[in-house]
Amino acid sequence: MNVPLLDLKAQYATIKPEVDKAVMSVMESQYFILGPEVEKLEKSLAGYLGVKHAIGVSSGTDALLIALMALDIKPGDEVIVPTFSFFATAGVVSRVNAVPVFVDIDPVTFNIDPADIEAKITPKTKAIVPVHLYGQSAAMDEIMAIAKKHNLAVVEDGAQAIGVQYKDGRAVGTIGDIGCYSFFPSKNLGCFGDGGLVVTNDDALAERLHIMRVHGGKPKYYHKIIGGNFRIDAMQAAVLNVKLPHLDGWSAKRRENAALYTKLFCEKGLAEETGRQVFDAKNSVLLPKAVYQASGVKNFHIFNQYVIRVRQRDAMRAYLGEKGVGTEIYYPVPFHRQECFAYLNAVDAQFPHSNAAAEGTIAVPIYPELSSEQIGYVVEMIAQFPNGK
Ligand SMILES: *Cc1c(COP(=O)(O)O)cnc(C)c1O
Repeated sequence: MNVPLLDLKAQYATIKPEVDKAVMSVMESQYFILGPEVEKLEKSLAGYLGVKHAIGVSSGTDALLIALMALDIKPGDEVIVPTFSFFATAGVVSRVNAVPVFVDIDPVTFNIDPADIEAKITPKTKAIVPVHLYGQSAAMDEIMAIAKKHNLAVVEDGAQAIGVQYKDGRAVGTIGDIGCYSFFPSKNLGCFGDGGLVVTNDDALAERLHIMRVHGGKPKYYHKIIGGNFRIDAMQAAVLNVKLPHLDGWSAKRRENAALYTKLFCEKGLAEETGRQVFDAKNSVLLPKAVYQASGVKNFHIFNQYVIRVRQRDAMRAYLGEKGVGTEIYYPVPFHRQECFAYLNAVDAQFPHSNAAAEGTIAVPIYPELSSEQIGYVVEMIAQFPNGK
């Protein structure tokens, strides 16, 4: 059986007539950059997320970059980021000539560890960038309390988490000063190219973000501030306008798939519970845990990725590849081990949980259109892995 890590064609097949019509109408309009499709998307997303301002931008990376620019993060300022995330989270900090300061993760959620944030704050610290990794909220109560105490800005990296609700029901990305999302095709809500979004409840920040999206000119050709070309195009907005009403349904399917993995791993005797941290005879696969489940909160986890820990990760990955199961390592190299950040002289031993995640985790297929047979096959192949126990 073939089980790819992701099958975008399967999703396209379910919405093809609607999407094709929307894309065609953009071609007929010949209105390609910003414009009515983008305004419609921004309005829908602001409503969906429950936030005052939603501003479409050119990518998730550019969402993070424009957020730091709008907050006026300056050369030499320190910005706290988890060391375990997609590269953009730290890369944007360096691109505004600020200093990324790395923090370890919580081993259960894979998200930034609030206790380690406190330990890394200095008089130069200006902002914290929590990431809602794999589609689960970071510890926002603790993070917001630290930010308030030290007067720091909070930029949420929700690139993998659009629609995720924190335990109080708020959408992640709307809790800090600015929230950032990505519409890269492989994300939960993906377009047909690059795209992203920034959101804020702050009118002054929204005004700056709007101006900075078009090179900082207002009126056009008159620049009080410097921005960039951070525009989203109408074709992407048209695709997203079709897809957004499906998002909660897709998230529910991802959660169902995750629940089926848990059930099958337990039935096969490979695991006993979610969130376990130690291998033993009855636990050769360690399963992810949704920690913020609360009554009335539906999207407590949207499983952008389903990430497990196994004993012989690299051998397991090669074996699954031979059996037709697509997997990925998110992420093999934490920031403190990246060559480009060697000049920061971070101490490897300060990041035990990130190092363990980089060395021992593997993502298995979780996309909404997976069949239960395919999920059963993935679990069966992991169970048959030679010497896996
Ligand atoms: C995908 C991703 C980004 C970057 O988004 P792009 O749209 O690819 O630029 C940033 N942060 C995280 C955590 C991501 O997963």
